[in-house]
Amino acid sequence: MNEKDQQYQPETLAIRAGSVQSQFHEHSEALFLTSSFTFDNAAQAARRFIGEEPGNIYARFTNPTVTMFEERLAAMEGAEQCVATASGMSAILACVMGVLKAGDHIVASRSLFGATVNLFNNIIKKFGVETTYVSATDVAEWQAAVRPNTKLFFLETPSNPLTEVSDIAAIAAVAKGCGALLVVDNCFCTPILQKPLELGADIVIHSATKYLDGQGRVLGGAVLGSRKNMEGVYGFLRTAGPTMSAFNAWIFLKGMETLKIRMDAHSAGALELARWLEAQPGVARVFYPGLPSHPQHELAMRQQKTGGGIVSFEVKGGKDAAWRVIDNTKMISITANLGDTRTTITHPASTTHARITPEARAAAGITDGLIRIAVGLEAVVDIQNDLARGLVA
Ligand SMILES: *Cc1c(COP(=O)(O)O)cnc(C)c1O
Repeated sequence: MNEKDQQYQPETLAIRAGSVQSQFHEHSEALFLTSSFTFDNAAQAARRFIGEEPGNIYARFTNPTVTMFEERLAAMEGAEQCVATASGMSAILACVMGVLKAGDHIVASRSLFGATVNLFNNIIKKFGVETTYVSATDVAEWQAAVRPNTKLFFLETPSNPLTEVSDIAAIAAVAKGCGALLVVDNCFCTPILQKPLELGADIVIHSATKYLDGQGRVLGGAVLGSRKNMEGVYGFLRTAGPTMSAFNAWIFLKGMETLKIRMDAHSAGALELARWLEAQPGVARVFYPGLPSHPQHELAMRQQKTGGGIVSFEVKGGKDAAWRVIDNTKMISITANLGDTRTTITHPASTTHARITPEARAAAGITDGLIRIAVGLEAVVDIQNDLARGLVA
């Protein structure tokens, strides 16, 4: 299964795309734990090193298990090429290092993963790349922020933790108009729910650590796009070294096989929980793209297959009430991770968003009463009962 991958449905690609058998005809993908590869003779080594003959040389460049992961995810996203990385953050780093140079400018959504903001503000900036932040949802702000040196647009949708939905097609049109590349961090949806390249994005980023693994085991990431755009990304990675380990690629290959049924179950659970939360007297507001009360519900339902697995809600009574809900849970894991079979609960204002000023937090809509739930695969009634204890206390 290779050339005509696009004729298959995503759940089929998630199981079969990219799979290559070795001489032993193993049915499940092999884990090639080897850092280097040998050559038949000196001439072949020379041909491999100058790129005249394709083939593995050294695992910082390529490894067959990692290549299977890359081919599978590329088929699922409909990308020409996928470059696997050590983590989601190294995917973002490789993307920026691969396509930008000193003096370039980024326009980015204000609602980004915290470490991404840190990378842009404190690391990339040292190398002469500046970032302007704009609203995730107001397309006019993206247009207004464009400068002559703008080379990259960067967004994540739905956003964390407020599940704001950005209009990928509309923002892609603005990017195209000014000659910038649109990068979409597709971590929350995965290609099962949303395919940014089909909507006009140029590059897709993944933290494979989340739903692609799906069981909270290993770190990994990926950058996907055209061969042309991936050339610099791969070049950076091959030289600088934050590549994906073969072991982690093997975990992701196994994880992806169940991605479709997991995303369906996470989404169904999240919708049921969101509806239940909306009916609770202690809850002031629920943020979930699958609810008709969500400000971008219509766009979300056009752009994504479901509302996804993340639900946030604001309890009445501020931080004390929010902490009471969290501290009264007995089953749900108190952790900031997401995309796991286990449901997790976070208080963004005092954890993931604690380092920004209270004013900036308020401007971002992250109130003290806000709680984020990443809905796992347990029975929804058990999640509800776990939350109800603190809500009525
Ligand atoms: C977790 C996450 C990342 C970073 O991924 P790591 O694998 O932890 O490096 C980037 N973007 C989003 C949206 C994430 O949730």
